[in-house]
Amino acid sequence: MTGASQNFYARFAEVARRRGAADCWIEPDGRALSWTEVDAAVAAHAAALRAIGVQPGDRVLVQVEKSVASLALYLGCLRAGAVFVPLNTAYTESELRYFIADAGPRLVVCDPLRARAVRGMAGADVTVRTLDRSGSGDWMEGVSALAVDAGHVQPIEPRAGGDLAAIVYTSGTTGRSKGAMVSHANLAANAAALIAAWQLRDDDVLLHALPTYHVHGLFVSLHSTLLAGGAVLLLPKFDVDAVLAQLPRATVFMGVPTYYTRLLADARFTREQAGSVRLFICGSAPLLPATFARFEQRTGQRILERYGMSEAGIITSNPLHGERLPGSVGYPLQGFELRIVDDQGRACAPDAPGMLEIRGPSVLGGYWRRPELQSTEFRDGWFVTGDLATRTAEGRVAIVGRARDLVISGGFNVYPREIELEIDALSGVGESAVIGVPHPDFGEAVVAVIVRHRGVALDEAGVLQALGQRLARFKLPKRVLFVDELPRNAMAKVQKAVLRETYAGLFRDG
Ligand code: AMP
Repeated sequence: MTGASQNFYARFAEVARRRGAADCWIEPDGRALSWTEVDAAVAAHAAALRAIGVQPGDRVLVQVEKSVASLALYLGCLRAGAVFVPLNTAYTESELRYFIADAGPRLVVCDPLRARAVRGMAGADVTVRTLDRSGSGDWMEGVSALAVDAGHVQPIEPRAGGDLAAIVYTSGTTGRSKGAMVSHANLAANAAALIAAWQLRDDDVLLHALPTYHVHGLFVSLHSTLLAGGAVLLLPKFDVDAVLAQLPRATVFMGVPTYYTRLLADARFTREQAGSVRLFICGSAPLLPATFARFEQRTGQRILERYGMSEAGIITSNPLHGERLPGSVGYPLQGFELRIVDDQGRACAPDAPGMLEIRGPSVLGGYWRRPELQSTEFRDGWFVTGDLATRTAEGRVAIVGRARDLVISGGFNVYPREIELEIDALSGVGESAVIGVPHPDFGEAVVAVIVRHRGVALDEAGVLQALGQRLARFKLPKRVLFVDELPRNAMAKVQKAVLRETYAGLFRDG
């Protein structure tokens, strides 16, 4: 393979040559850009990067709303060999200050409303440009000026497979956010594994409602659909009305669990409405078995749940053909090796929970400017995911929870997911989160935080009595609390650290 072909963008360019006038991006109003047009737009973004002095390997930090232009900018960075650094639009200015200092970007592209603050915090050698949600801003002025002049189009920047394509900051609930270093080869390997696993095709249309500052919306969904030659119908964000309106034009939908619960809460979401979609995929947080079951009842389709992370892309998936089971994330994707080990690194017996460690071509090389993490986050060449998992004798994986969410009460390990599944099965429960909080006697006490269905008379005693018949005594919650909703981040993950903080004094205060 030549150098240029190791640049991940070369794969998009190949598809563009093949698909030509076929639709690539489709907007909600029906306007579409062909593959040829998207490829030309990407070339213009790459040329604009070069024109302002962005060199291969330079970081381009981007905190903007999702738009066709923002995605062309992403692909333009790949094409020019720059390192794309996407940032959650929810990050505040003081958080942004940290990311700019850590990533050391050559260029920052931000919302016009942020431009003044960013100019104030970035050094004189950093260029700042703006891009808004409608796809305009002074960044686009530079791009348009170049787009009319084909003479600016440069070849795809040659890259080695191991060269950096992106730095993805993990959400980092504790301590500083870490930048996962993702290479061109990492992205190519995961895209190929996904196309194989889900058999994506060039007549697929993905309804894209996910944010594009996160790997789910940026890498997983875009790469798999586009490199299969399919088209992406881009919604600016998840919105039930918009999803319902566009769903009949789609064949594939990808979402976080909340998207599915919100669709199910709307009576207009019916079997007919979902009928053109051949594949509903879910991930980024655990899908409740109750949601899986209600979805099947309503639509006749079984959601395909998969598991992945910023550091490795998608790692396991339920099968496309074969059984999709609730509460399970299926089997390793092609190229991945998995092991489940105890504290000493010894292999766990089938079905016994332990730390999930992985190896494979899409696993990150390390963390940006954090060489010390190489020895804590990797063990003998295996990446330590931080997730506790079980695996059946025939290889099916289930995620039990984050290791840091494990509760150790009176010396016994309590896996929150096991308790949550029991609680969620009780009538009247919407959802639940089980956490450990400091306890003077047990070290940590199991506490259940529950969202009840409206108007249900479920109380603490009732929950404890029902659980008492199903769970060993040491696993039983010491307290059951009721809330209107669980704290979640933008990717629907329950923020257990927030809950732990909220209830830290529960036993201390008597
Ligand atoms: P992120 O890097 O933001 O994508 O977060 C990755 C983490 O999300 C994983 O380490 C898991 O803890 C969690 N996660 C992703 N998919 C699933 C899933 N299907 N079930 C349970 N947890 C998941």
